[in-house]
Formats: sequence, structure tokens, C-alpha cells
Amino acid sequence: MQFENLIGGRWQGQNFTQNVNPSDTADVIGEYASATLDETQDAIRAAAAARGQWRDFPPAERVAALRRIGNTILERRAELGAALSREEGKIRAEGIGEATRAGMTFLYYASQVEQEQGSLFSSSRANTAIHTARKPVGAVGIITPWNFPLAIPAWKIAPALAFGNTVVFKPADLVPSSAWLLAEIIHQSGIPDGVFNLVMGKGRTVGDAMAKSPDLNAITFTGSTATGLAIARAGIANGPKRIQTEMGGKNSLIVLDDADLVTAIDAVMDGAFVSTGQRCTATSRVIATRGIYPSLIEGVAKRMKGLRVGHALEADIDIGPLASQAQFDQVSEYIELGQREGAELVAGGEAIENSTPGYYLQPALFAGGASQMRINQEEIFGPVACVIETDDLDDAIITANDTRYGLCAGIITDSNKAIVKFQREMDAGMLHVNRSTALTELHVPFGGSKSSSYGPREQGTAAREFFTTLATVYTTTVV
Ligand code: NAD
Repeated sequence: MQFENLIGGRWQGQNFTQNVNPSDTADVIGEYASATLDETQDAIRAAAAARGQWRDFPPAERVAALRRIGNTILERRAELGAALSREEGKIRAEGIGEATRAGMTFLYYASQVEQEQGSLFSSSRANTAIHTARKPVGAVGIITPWNFPLAIPAWKIAPALAFGNTVVFKPADLVPSSAWLLAEIIHQSGIPDGVFNLVMGKGRTVGDAMAKSPDLNAITFTGSTATGLAIARAGIANGPKRIQTEMGGKNSLIVLDDADLVTAIDAVMDGAFVSTGQRCTATSRVIATRGIYPSLIEGVAKRMKGLRVGHALEADIDIGPLASQAQFDQVSEYIELGQREGAELVAGGEAIENSTPGYYLQPALFAGGASQMRINQEEIFGPVACVIETDDLDDAIITANDTRYGLCAGIITDSNKAIVKFQREMDAGMLHVNRSTALTELHVPFGGSKSSSYGPREQGTAAREFFTTLATVYTTTVV
């Protein structure tokens, strides 16, 4: 079956590419349109043309449309979650959880539409008032990665539409099925043609044209640091347009001697291996002080023996396959590299045969790693964690900060003094105490520091800053 792009309210497509299930590469999910440069330009023109109509759309009707989208996603969460798992490889419960979050995100931003829109100020002049008014930025380009095929598009599309912007949405080419289903739901919500456009296709064609287009007023991107920085450069040079890029991570979890061991093991298991480790917020560097280092490694390795890796849609599976052959090759190469660099492979790391052909890998745990090893500096983006031994809290924080990334970080400890120091000195955008680094909520700001983020935060109330612009209005009454 063929699935087309949505441009100016019309489904259309010329070139199609196959979407394959990473749990079973013999399972072809469908053929999805890959937009040409001309089609991308058409979508941008459609979004630009619809700007005024959507800006002036009655807010109550905008709220109603967002609620329809959110409620439809929630009603269809089992189906959408399964479709997501089939194309991305995360297990069914996680797919449904992600669909639920996407639905809740639309409902959350529906509730933001009717919040206050500006402030009133006095003037130094007689008979004059000054107020500020929030306005939509305009036509927004949205470029997303493959690892959260519903949640990340939702947390960009929902605030964009809520605050009166029109959208050109380019999903990652690995996960067009989730994007297409989401686009169909948005299209059926009754919003005017051209307000939301879907252009599936290649980054170097579709994404590049979006970044360079002077007709888009903003680009919000999530993906790798290299792509994000290239988009930021192109976006500023061609416009300039407003830019928000959420990029890579190499997140540290500090475990101190006074930590509750079970809490620490739980945090490593969740942070490093859930979603096959393919989360930007995943725990990759575990930095443990000497006293707890051996028991932590032993405890995690023991727990890993119980992990069931298999087809994402089968029952009783803990971890699905990696999302693609490229992902499988990249993660396997890092596991070999870690051993060459001198880290000890304590558990896992081997390819797994399953009854269906797919990208199955046993999660891997390294120990004895040094902070500057490449496996502890570069984003592996798979189910791989390395434990680094450290002297004390001071050394642990220095080591945790010793990366170019700063998305999130965590600490497991019973010491209030250590928690305060960690919160003050850790250079990362999201800090977790006695919990996994990977868990975030939709109503609070999301983003990082250093090479992990550029531009304003996303999600929660922070999204308003990116998706609106402020006009300062001076009004003098002629008396
Ligand atoms: P990627 O950078 O390869 O691709 C992301 C998107 O950019 C895709 O839609 C892709 O088609 C597009 N793209 C690629 N080249 C482009 C170009 N030249 N111009 C414009 N667009 C282009 O990333 P990915 O492999 O899809 O995702 C994994 C990465 O995403 C990891 O680095 C991960 O850490 C990161 N990520 C970050 C966050 C966060 O919030 N910080 C969340 C999830 C994933």
C-alpha cells in the first residue's frame, strides 16, 4: 500500500520508498512518499499562504481542533502504539505509552491557547498606554528524529498549532508510518488546508530545503548534533529564521557509596537499556565511587541476565531490536571499539538470532572505562553502558562534566550535601536525583547545555517562547 504526503490539504506523491519492520525485515509495512524538492517548496508555500487564516482562526475553534487531535490519538493509542513499535522496534507497552504521551501533549497545548497573551504597561507620555501582545512566529518547519516517532513530533506540532503557527513537518525517513498516521488525524481535525503539511523524505533534500527556505520563519529540529548545527547555520544564513535544535547526549549517572543499591541498579537498567538504549536521555556513563563500584557492576550484570530481547510486538519482551541495520552496525562497532580501548566487557554485547530476521543485540555493560575513551565520549545510541570508577563526589562531578554534551545527568545518593553540589555544578539541562536520567514529563521545560541544545527550551510553558513573538504596542488616545 502507498502512503502520500499532505501538501496544501491534498494527499500526493511521486516517489515511494519501502518501510521495513526492524523486528522482522521480511515484513514490509508499506511504501511511503519521498518528497521532491518541488513538492517541499509547494508545502512551504502552502504553509506560508495559510499563515493569516490560522492566526485569525477563533481561539476556541483552535482549542477544539487540538482537543479532537489529542482525544483521537488517545482513543487509538493501542493501534498507534503497535504501528510505532512495528516500524521503530520499541516494545508494545512503550509504543502505547508514547502514543498516550502524544495525545496528552495535544490536550496540554489545547489548554495553553487561552492563557494570557501579553502585559499592560504605563507610559511616560500622557494619554498613552503600552501593551505587549504575543503573536505567532509564522510558518514553522519541524524536523524530527526516528527514536520517538510520535512524542517528539507531537511536542513540536501541538505548540506550533496552538500558538497560531502553520507547519511543514518532515519526519525521519526511518519512521514514516507513525508520522503519516499522525498527519491523517491532524488533517481530519477540521483545520484549514495548508495549516499542517507533511513532507516525508530525505534529510538532504526535504530537510535541507526547509532549513534554507526564506519562507519559513522558524525551524525546530531534534536529531544529531552534526545535523542540528548544519541546520542552525543554514537557517540563520537564509532568513534569518528562529532556530531551536535539540541534539545529542552522552548522559552521566553518578552513583555514590551511600546510594541505595537497588535504586542505583534500577536507574541503570532503565536509563541504559529501555527503548534499546535509543533515547537521547539514555544513561551511557555510570560514574561510581570505589565503595559501591564492584557491587553495582555485579548487580547490574545479574539483572541483565534476565532481560528478554526479541520481536517488539511479542508478549513478555523487555527489549526490542535496534531500529535499523545502520544502528546495529554502529552499536556493534562501538562494542568492539570499547574492548580495543581496554574497557572490560562484563556482560552482553553479542548479536542474537531470533525466529524472525531483525537487528537484535544483547545489551552490553562495560567496566573499567576511562572517561576519555571514545566509548565514553561519543554518542553510541544503543543499549550500552560503561561504568567508570571514581574517588569521591568532587571527582565524580568533574568526570560527569567531562563530555561535549549536556542534555541530562543523574545522581544516586543519600547525601543532601552531595545533591546540592550536584545540582549546582553539573552542566546539563535536566538533572535527576535518585532516578533514571531518561524520565521526563511533558509539562516542564526540556533541553540541554553545551552541544546538546541550541536555542530556547521546548515543552511545557517554555514552548510559548519559541512559538510566539512579542509585539510592543504603543497607543495614544487623541483627546
Ligand atoms: P539525524 O540528525 O540523522 O536526523 C534527524 C532529522 O534530520 C531527520 O528527519 C533527518 O532526515 C533530518 N536530516 C538529516 N540530514 C539533514 C540535512 N542535511 N538537513 C536537514 N535535515 C536533515 O538524527 P537521527 O539519527 O534521526 O536521530 C538520532 C539523534 O537524535 C541522536 O543524536 C539523538 O541523541 C538525537 N535526539 C535528541 C533528542 C533531544 O531532545 N535532545 C531527542 C531524540 C533524539
